Amino acid sequence: MANAKKSSFVIVYHRQPYEEAVEGGRVIYKENKSPNGIVPALKGFLGTAKDAVWVAWKQVPASGKVNFERTVRIKDSYGEYDVVRLPLRAEQVKAFYHVTSKEALWPILHSFPDKFNYDPVDWENFREVNRLFAEAACEQASDDAFIWVHDYNLWLVPHYVRQIKPKARIAMFHHTPFPAPDAFNVLPWREEIISSLLDCNIVGFHIPRYAENFASTACSLLGAKRTEVRDVEGPFRPTGAALSEPTVTTALEYKGHRVEIDAWPIGTNPQMIEKHLTTFEAGKRVAEIASEVGDRRLLVSVGRVDYTKGTKELLEAFDRLLARRPELKEKVKLFCVCVAPADGMSAYRAAQREVERLVGSINGKYGNLRWTPIMLSTRGVPFDQLVCYYRAADVCWITPLRDGLNLVAKEFVAAQNGDPGVLILSEFAGAAVELAECVSVNPYSARSMDAAIDAALDMDETERGRRLEVMRKRVSDWDVDEWARHVRERFEALSKPQTEDARSAA
Ligand code: UDP
Repeated sequence: MANAKKSSFVIVYHRQPYEEAVEGGRVIYKENKSPNGIVPALKGFLGTAKDAVWVAWKQVPASGKVNFERTVRIKDSYGEYDVVRLPLRAEQVKAFYHVTSKEALWPILHSFPDKFNYDPVDWENFREVNRLFAEAACEQASDDAFIWVHDYNLWLVPHYVRQIKPKARIAMFHHTPFPAPDAFNVLPWREEIISSLLDCNIVGFHIPRYAENFASTACSLLGAKRTEVRDVEGPFRPTGAALSEPTVTTALEYKGHRVEIDAWPIGTNPQMIEKHLTTFEAGKRVAEIASEVGDRRLLVSVGRVDYTKGTKELLEAFDRLLARRPELKEKVKLFCVCVAPADGMSAYRAAQREVERLVGSINGKYGNLRWTPIMLSTRGVPFDQLVCYYRAADVCWITPLRDGLNLVAKEFVAAQNGDPGVLILSEFAGAAVELAECVSVNPYSARSMDAAIDAALDMDETERGRRLEVMRKRVSDWDVDEWARHVRERFEALSKPQTEDARSAA
């Protein structure tokens, strides 16, 4: 290890926090091109700890021979920190990530039990990879270090860390939904997972509904007790929306120790978006997009290829729109970004084929030489380009069947300025309980989908401006810095002696 001293702050996230490239025969570590999303949000924490470490995986050849430095020292605009790369073979990654995580855990987290694929799961491999992550983290960590684990594919890490470092302060953050107990309990490994999460000092989620679902599951499966329940505060709409919760459990007791629960959504970075959009290049690009679209209205829809994202339902609604309102032909254009996974995961192949089929069918049915109704991109659009589309758009149309949060919705709101655009957002995206002034839509109902797109296209400017102003203020008040401030406050509270006493007494 470049830094012999044990670390007091370790982040465990499966991806490395930079892009690795070879230039002039040398390996170099570049800051991620994309300044948005989870990696920059977490990197904001690294600079604040003197001796921070990030643990991720990196692939080794089938022989298992490690052909890279396990630890690299990174100096970037976020600070100076070590990245420890856990060597995994391709088949370990496939079994742990592509199969168990994506084919078994992901559908359950998103309440799609019919997509749950049990047969190919190698649970021993999942345990083993999680144990290796935990050992790699503990090797770096001081005995009472803060170890912050991210996402469901590392669900068993808290359990293994607790065995090695009983005094560590362990936090786990979920970037996905957490389903109701009757969906979660489909997982045959449910007790093992919940028991591992109860080894944490704090378990975090985006919104109170997911925290409540976790609390209910922990109480009903393993007999944890709710010891603190509070009224929901912060940016959340407490009642009336599909994912609203008026109260939220903030602490459980299990086997004599306290497990805190936190619900706090990651924000976007409106200042960075605004700063970028005031550059000459961005202004030029926004003008180009506007001129390419001409007098048509631009609808944008941005997401990944995934059956949870509701792209099929959106395209079917667009098809119905053009059939129901022929006056809109040649007057609207849908830019649909549906990014295909780089490694062609089988779980998503059918979803991608369906999207491509529908786009082809709609363009074939309504298009002509002058007008193609849908421009589909299965390639990712760089963030600096994407925000230009957000700014130029009249409607941002986001219809997931389930989505942990949805940052795109917040980014669109942050990027709008001038003639106000409309956000259509699924009730089943976590961000919907923060962005109550959107045009809310139920993607399971064709009638609701039709009413939402009609409402968005027909809304007058005053109403569009009113809604956008309220949402812009909320997105700016509860931005990524506010998320980081809140998380730090919770971590500092955990460092107080009474929590440590409770832990060592257990
Ligand atoms: N994104 C991007 N280029 C694309 C598509 C998406 O930069 O072509 C970014 C988008 O701006 C957002 C993130 O990827 O910051 C997607 O986050 P979101 O919460 O909306 O969905 P997730 O993919 O995490 O489910």
